[in-house]
Amino acid sequence: MSKTSDKQRIEELRGLLEKANRAYYVEAAPSMSDRAFDELLEELIRLETQNPELFDPNSPSQRVGGEPIEGFETLEHALPMQSIDNTYSTDDLRAWHDRVRRGLGVESPAGDGKSLFRDDADLTFVCDPKIDGVAISLRYEDGQLVRALTRGDGVKGDDVTSNVRAIRPIPLKLMETTKASLPEVLEVRGEIFMPSKEFERINAEREKADEPLYANARNVTVGTLKNLDPTVVSRRRLNFVAHGRGETVGLDDITTYWGFLQKIREWGIPVSPLAKLCDSFDQVVRTIEAFAQQRSDLGYGVDGMVVRVDRFEQQESLGATSKAPRWCIAYKYPAEQGVTTLMKVEWQVGKAGTLTPRATMEPVLLAGTTVQHATLHNIEEIHRKDIRIGDTVVIEKAGEIIPQVVRVEKDKRKKGAKKIQPPQQCPTCKGVVEQEGPKLYCVNPECPAQFRERVKWFVGRGQMDIEGLGEKLVDQLAEEGLISHFADLYALRREDLVGLERMGDKSVDNLLDAIEKSKSRGMERVLSGLGIRQIGSSAAKMLALHYPDTKALMAATKEELGELPDFGDITAGILHAYLHSPQGQETFCKLEEAGVSMKSTRYQKGGALSTPATVFTGKTIVLTGTLENFSRDDLAQQLEALGAKVTTSVSRKTDLVIAGQSAGSKLQKARSLGIEVWNEEKLHQAMQTT
Ligand SMILES: [Zn+2]
Repeated sequence: MSKTSDKQRIEELRGLLEKANRAYYVEAAPSMSDRAFDELLEELIRLETQNPELFDPNSPSQRVGGEPIEGFETLEHALPMQSIDNTYSTDDLRAWHDRVRRGLGVESPAGDGKSLFRDDADLTFVCDPKIDGVAISLRYEDGQLVRALTRGDGVKGDDVTSNVRAIRPIPLKLMETTKASLPEVLEVRGEIFMPSKEFERINAEREKADEPLYANARNVTVGTLKNLDPTVVSRRRLNFVAHGRGETVGLDDITTYWGFLQKIREWGIPVSPLAKLCDSFDQVVRTIEAFAQQRSDLGYGVDGMVVRVDRFEQQESLGATSKAPRWCIAYKYPAEQGVTTLMKVEWQVGKAGTLTPRATMEPVLLAGTTVQHATLHNIEEIHRKDIRIGDTVVIEKAGEIIPQVVRVEKDKRKKGAKKIQPPQQCPTCKGVVEQEGPKLYCVNPECPAQFRERVKWFVGRGQMDIEGLGEKLVDQLAEEGLISHFADLYALRREDLVGLERMGDKSVDNLLDAIEKSKSRGMERVLSGLGIRQIGSSAAKMLALHYPDTKALMAATKEELGELPDFGDITAGILHAYLHSPQGQETFCKLEEAGVSMKSTRYQKGGALSTPATVFTGKTIVLTGTLENFSRDDLAQQLEALGAKVTTSVSRKTDLVIAGQSAGSKLQKARSLGIEVWNEEKLHQAMQTT
């Protein structure tokens, strides 16, 4: 075949295959058999191999999975991916509805006499099922999929684009329609999930291969998305539905969430066929009730219903708390219960020495997952519920919460059911165990189990953030005797690591890199990473605001520490004792010698409270658009250090909006409310003079 006809045929095949995908996943009306599909795909792959110059990352052939990748880059979301508040009763849902009406009804946020809410007819809602999967943000630019980020911590997520390309329901290109041109930027948030049948198929295969079974579909979905080999993703049939929007440019004619769903569906993005527009709150309640009957037959896990205010204008006016939007709420269906037999109880050692009882039971299927372990909380809880080994127990599981034993069916208790005794010694180090209230502690400061848990915390995302140093690897390093102090992490050599399980050359390089990078996180991350009682990340940040480095911190008296905001005598006492203990001093010394920075990254001379007021003090600030010289995260931190409060949505309470490139609806709203707007240059000047 000639080059031109190859090119034509490639384009034709790409079109046919995308159309077939859309028919299958979006319209739920398959247009060709699996076999016909595979034949066309094979032809496409053959032609593309012969014509490498016609490569397109968004070709359907890329869905079979490209080359394995080295790792995932962490990138910032254009707009944060917030979580959603939960409610478990209709009463709470009504209370939310009242808050929404009050929030919209007081006065027009635009101050133009026009209200966003006169009566209930102004307020419509959209309900859609809350699927138990992995949240993802897909970014399309000019109709092409350019990036897929996991939710991560909501501000930054992992770039899993190459894996997401292998998920068939996700369009690689949006379909142009005659009705509207494609937006310049479209970010769609949605859920990647695994249908129950696929989960069962994978587990059946593993059983045959004598491999351990997966506990639930969600975990396999996470594992699949984080797999470094996209062919694995391609082989597992993951599904996707959209349930939200992120940044959009050129989509101003869409003013409601319902309208948004219809529009993206036209472009070929799957939305839930069960999403429903409700004209009244009563209809919302009826929809939730009706869905309770339906949800066990869907073939995938759904744990609730998300209810949201439909009009974007009203959403923006309601805004968000620091945790979640006010215009949206998830109604969670009651937890499912199951009955099983308790076989044994083990005591697990935590990072502060706490011993927590963990029950092993006969495996039981619950809320779509196989449950085998439950937490028993503490010894008093065990006595209160009179739980014994061999008992028939009722367990409950709600969403991501660890399963719990609700009660014992005592009439089924067999003779010989054994009482559970608190451990006389630590199961790991055999050290002395002491009881404090209902809790048991291993009091041995040298306990290896505690040390391993502390290292896992120290290297975690919110602390030193050493990527690639997971729990299993920490266990291995400790078992091999390579680490017996935090500072030993920084002495690890290439030759120590290459012999370890699952550590190839590339993983070793990446890990050494990540360890090196973590040295400069600053005093506040070190402090919160050490696991000193009462000193979490907010206390550590407060200390970093007032003390430039650990030397200055060591010089502080107990009384001085007690005067810091949110520091009582107890916290000050614990911290002071730690700082002046031989272990504390040794830890600081060794870390510093290892090259870890012990300097604050947010210190302000005189501390935040006695700082002379800046132009930012007490101001509520919103950041929007892309800034050239600041990352949004860093800027928010800096502004907060200067006394400002940084929020995510513009309302009448906003004092100042800082707008970067391609700022969208927030900027418009700020203008309509008459709020002061600064560009980056003005911000830069103001920050220089403070
Ligand atoms: Zn111990």
